[in-house]
Amino acid sequence: MKFVSYATGDQYAVGLMTRDGQSLQTVRGTESDKPDGMLRLIDRWEELRPEPSMLRGHTLSLEDVRLLAPIPRPPRNVFCVGKNYTEHAKEFSGSGYDTTGSPDDQPKRPIFFTKAPSSVLAPGGLIESHAAITEEIDYEAELGAIIGRRGRTIPRGQALDYVWGYTILNDVTARDLQRAHEQWFLGKSLDTFCPMGPWAVTADEIDVGELDITCSINGEVRQSSNTSALIFDVPTIIETLSAGITLEPGDIIATGTPEGVGIGFNPPRFLRTGDEIVINISGLGTLQNTMA
Ligand code: MG
Repeated sequence: MKFVSYATGDQYAVGLMTRDGQSLQTVRGTESDKPDGMLRLIDRWEELRPEPSMLRGHTLSLEDVRLLAPIPRPPRNVFCVGKNYTEHAKEFSGSGYDTTGSPDDQPKRPIFFTKAPSSVLAPGGLIESHAAITEEIDYEAELGAIIGRRGRTIPRGQALDYVWGYTILNDVTARDLQRAHEQWFLGKSLDTFCPMGPWAVTADEIDVGELDITCSINGEVRQSSNTSALIFDVPTIIETLSAGITLEPGDIIATGTPEGVGIGFNPPRFLRTGDEIVINISGLGTLQNTMA
């Protein structure tokens, strides 16, 4: 099932996409004056899943709603993995922007950082230029996993049982802030730097180990890979994170970006006003955003 978060006027709700992709059915019980319906749906999922007909309310055309990110305000920071595709790890290490100090271009263990919840942006939304503090904004197409069950010390063999669904993320990054401040949080957490969507697809519909992932800028394909090329796969990421951190329903994990980001080119190709960024992942739809 494909779920969207949407707004009509100042009311929010979750919708279940119809098969033709043109309309949605309001999910009963998710209407609110706060955009937290998807989190409540995930919390109640085990109870609701056996009876999906209970979910379905009235039908709306996609044209009559404003789509939001599937989880517009995550309950805490988005967990992210850095340098998680072999060729991207090489291009980043060779770019002069990697200040992690590692002599190796291939990480031996997953590298984690986070993005602030306030960075989340809707599909179709404008990515702010933050021109007063950065001139080097880059894109990173990523698979996002959404946690559905609370858990700690989750073994990799059971890890996928803890995933509720998947979505597309753009881990937008201010490279000059990343380099100057010698960390990843600041340059990745600016407002609007986490476009997400267009919907969340439940895990039963997705073979997470074999998903094509592409990113185009103004129609030119820059990134083209497959999640089979991840250095640390989703179960390994969950096992590692949960070893000492309790994962909660609604937590989001951005799994890393493949090669072809702006700093992979010489000279680097940063985003400019009006650039259209289009990310596709098999089965997860298309996430489109524009640079303000
Ligand atoms: Mg990234």
